[in-house]
Amino acid sequence: MNNFSYIQADKAKDATAAKRDDKSAAFIAGGTTLLDLMKLSVENHDQLIDVNMLPFRGIESTKDGLRIGALERMSDVAAHPLVARQFPMVAESLLLAASAQLRNMASIGGNVLQRTRCGYFRDTAFPCNKRNPGSGCPALTGDNRNLAILGTSDACIATSYPGDLSVALIALDAVLTLENAKGKQRQVPLTKFYLLPGSTPQRETVLEPDELIVAVTIPQTEMARRSKYLKVRDRASYAYALVSAAVGLEVQGGTIKAARVALGGVGAQPWRCFEAEKALVGQPATEATFRAAAEVALRGAKPREHNAFKVEMAQNTLVRALSEVAAA
Ligand SMILES: Cc1cc2nc3c(=O)[nH]c(=O)nc-3n(C[C@H](O)[C@H](O)[C@H](O)COP(=O)(O)OP(=O)(O)OC[C@H]3O[C@@H](n4cnc5c(N)ncnc54)[C@H](O)[C@@H]3O)c2cc1C
Ligand code: SF4
Repeated sequence: MNNFSYIQADKAKDATAAKRDDKSAAFIAGGTTLLDLMKLSVENHDQLIDVNMLPFRGIESTKDGLRIGALERMSDVAAHPLVARQFPMVAESLLLAASAQLRNMASIGGNVLQRTRCGYFRDTAFPCNKRNPGSGCPALTGDNRNLAILGTSDACIATSYPGDLSVALIALDAVLTLENAKGKQRQVPLTKFYLLPGSTPQRETVLEPDELIVAVTIPQTEMARRSKYLKVRDRASYAYALVSAAVGLEVQGGTIKAARVALGGVGAQPWRCFEAEKALVGQPATEATFRAAAEVALRGAKPREHNAFKVEMAQNTLVRALSEVAAA
């Protein structure tokens, strides 16, 4: 790990100005991702700007939905009654992530910005187009068991966001509030926040270098109330998803009126399945409908040598999640 200086910002404009003026600086919240990457020399920052004193807190109902401050901790958000009652898939995605200790430290903004668990990315002995553009992608022919099958490119096949929360947020049309060094705020839907790797896998989101995540807002809908996050992993706790499904349904008289579907662990970004949603709406809430939608969701999957199992696993996970929500 390189030497670095540390400052604590108590105003957003001080934090964003410091970042604008020092291209090698990084914001730090819980530090549970950033410090690991610095210890591995995957990221090298000469300055850390601690944002924990900023007023990006609070979990409150607004006219646009539930607004959660970016510095709220994962454990506090999961335990909040409004989240548990009105957005079960969000609470579940948080509780199934990491460990209790990590959830107590880790912030919502930091979770959204966590980076891939691709082993080659995290080991600087290997080339990696995401870490060092143009150096190559050993995962294409190497160990790719945990990597993506949807939205990949010849430059990178990583699950760029390997976590859980953003899968639920993207399913529910959540919107991020960002603020830059000029004090200007903008709203970016999660569906437009992450970037596919294409030929520039080092660019992962639309966040500008001087921008902070201030908050995330989740619209309140019937589908959010009737929702589920189902995670399949190698062991029952403290493991990233091999596959996960975030689903919400609105069912009237046995017919699906509206649906939200997203997959984790399979996409180069948290994977919203718009086509599968279309396949569900207007159909009876039966296993046959869910299976047909699951096939649509995985259409276009491009599995590699070690991760072909994810196609069937994702379909089965989706069918189970939809069946459980429909029966609830
Ligand atoms: C062993 C282990 C297991 C894990 N398992 C899971 C899992 O199963 N599921 C899951 O979802 N996650 C998992 N995680 C990831 C964990 O959820 C993240 O590490 C955590 O959410 C990051 O939050 P943080 O506040 O610590 O971020 P930090 O490490 O402080 O920051 C992460 C990144 O976000 C940036 N950042 C932080 N806050 C802001 C902000 N407000 N605005 C702009 N930039 C910001 C930082 O500059 C940095 O680039 C795991 C982590 C570990 C170490
Ligand atoms: S899959 Fe992406 S992150 Fe992994 S080695 Fe290839 S370029 Fe790097």
